[in-house]
Amino acid sequence: MIKALVVEDCPLNMELMEGLLEAYGTMIFKAENVVEAGRLLEKHKPDIVFLDIQLPGTDGATYARKLRREKGTGLPLLVAVTAQAMKGDPERILASGFDYYLSKPIDFQHFSHLMRLVGGKEQVNDEAWEEV
Ligand code: MN
Repeated sequence: MIKALVVEDCPLNMELMEGLLEAYGTMIFKAENVVEAGRLLEKHKPDIVFLDIQLPGTDGATYARKLRREKGTGLPLLVAVTAQAMKGDPERILASGFDYYLSKPIDFQHFSHLMRLVGGKEQVNDEAWEEV
């Protein structure tokens, strides 16, 4: 079973994310900020982390940089989830250390591709992500 950690401060977005993940039979851990996220990350070792960029306290991009600095490649898949979609934002966000980028509202095809990837049912196909 895929274990996913969702870090999201907006209850509605959290609910939407839960709905998507439940459709994949995913075990879901929820955090509203990076402090809770850190605790759940250590305790449950999720396969994938969906990290909102705009969070109270430490923002998602800062946290991703911190995780990369501390753990390098020994991390679950780090996915940025954000409504920021200005030109150059995806590149800037990915440069923070994320593996992937999902924009809100979440595109279902991107999401399902990602879940197949985590489930090991598909080879990494970077081309599918070029459009982000
Ligand atoms: Mn937020």
